[in-house]
Amino acid sequence: MSKILLILRIIPDVMSEIQINLKKIKSTLPENVKLVAVSKTRSINEIIEIYNTGHRVFGENRVQEIVVKQASLPADIQWHLIGHLQTNKVKYIAPFISLIESVDSFKLLVEINKQASKFNRLIDCLLQFHIASEETKFGLSYEEAEEILESPVFASLKNIRITGVMGMATLTENQNLIRSEFSELKKYFNYLKMKYFENDRFFKEISMGMSDDYPIAIEEGSTMVRVGSSIFGSRFQ
Ligand SMILES: *Cc1c(COP(=O)(O)O)cnc(C)c1O
Repeated sequence: MSKILLILRIIPDVMSEIQINLKKIKSTLPENVKLVAVSKTRSINEIIEIYNTGHRVFGENRVQEIVVKQASLPADIQWHLIGHLQTNKVKYIAPFISLIESVDSFKLLVEINKQASKFNRLIDCLLQFHIASEETKFGLSYEEAEEILESPVFASLKNIRITGVMGMATLTENQNLIRSEFSELKKYFNYLKMKYFENDRFFKEISMGMSDDYPIAIEEGSTMVRVGSSIFGSRFQ
């Protein structure tokens, strides 16, 4: 046996900084909480570093970016679209998208269904709610969500499946405000579950929590956190 092999065997695997970050975050998450690694603006190599740890769920907010990355990376990655989606761009992601977290209009849902049927797919979707006090964030009101779910057209959409809700809290230092917004989203989830999805085992996700607020989100009932900068470092854009 060569000395080199012997030496290689005693050197522990060296983890990169972002792999260490990921491992740390994962070790704090309860078992029922899924982690979406938000890879927007990150390079293919950075994503591969995370992929090599065995992680498979990544989130992107731009159609152009997710399409390029999907084509350059392994096919077993589950891609989540987490940003505002224009109806005319649904066709580009319909062949591969695993979850669209940002459904914020009925028109969009109808288009997702149309494109999904072209590819003979069932696309999972979350209804995005506007829970923040900022005007700028996208999302439905509770009333708008009910309008969608009660529409006869909704009942005819066979190629989409609503698997839960998503929301973003206000960007603020005020932890109580953040907590109350997450708690509101959880309430919306509970109402919808009771009223429209009582016997639907697929309606189960509450996607809330980002790098700065995911511990609060988990305390308030999150089942899915979307974390970018705490894994990859801060974005310079
Ligand atoms: C960028 C982004 C995230 C992740 O933000 P970080 O603060 O980097 O963790 C989560 N959700 C959405 C919708 C985003 O656009």
